[in-house]
Amino acid sequence: MKTIGLLGGMSWESTVPYYRVINETVGERLGGLHSARVVLYSVEFQEIERLQHADRWDDTAEILTAAARSIEAAGADFLVICTNTMHKVAAQIEEGIGIPLLHIADATAEEIKAAGVRTVGLLGTKFTMEHDFYRGRLEQNHGLEVVVPDEVGRDTVHRVIYEELCLGTVRDDSRAAFRKIIEDLVARGAEAVILGCTEISMLVKPEDSTVPVFDTTAIHARKAVDWALEE
Ligand code: GLU
Repeated sequence: MKTIGLLGGMSWESTVPYYRVINETVGERLGGLHSARVVLYSVEFQEIERLQHADRWDDTAEILTAAARSIEAAGADFLVICTNTMHKVAAQIEEGIGIPLLHIADATAEEIKAAGVRTVGLLGTKFTMEHDFYRGRLEQNHGLEVVVPDEVGRDTVHRVIYEELCLGTVRDDSRAAFRKIIEDLVARGAEAVILGCTEISMLVKPEDSTVPVFDTTAIHARKAVDWALEE
């Protein structure tokens, strides 16, 4: 079994389900007391968040590359960055390490394509919904059509992620707002919705949507187990 390197803490609330899903999946596949070999480096999120909102992405890349190097030095065979947003600097991190990166958008797109979906709604931070690193990858590398909420919807989703979910707060009124935003995406042609932020599954469950939801946290964690158990 390979050793999974987790670059987590963004936020720590969503690193917990990664660890749980990875170990549960290894248990399901191998039985008994089997569990995953994991190296986890959890960052100080306030520092990352401050740099994101100051548009200092190169500085975030420096911090995350140093962390990824520690993960590699500790014996990980590949790297899993436990956040969609920070894949904005995935290429820079990848350049700084000698182990492969399991990209969250690729893992998610593969499942979406396998389900026969072509047009997909995307919920995430404004960075994920608006910048090209994520949508562009889904569209150009995977041939998917991506729809995002309108500006008011994007503001709501972004605010709920940073002011509630990253602090472990789950509110019914925010869930109701997300349900409306999802309804709007479906009305605009989305055949499925990507929970493209690793905390959203704390708030939104499959029953909150009339179309299938693709939870990037669970998809990424299960794919990490595929890689770990591959010969
Ligand atoms: N975990 C979130 C994501 O998947 C947002 C927090 C962050 O900025 O990394 O995008």
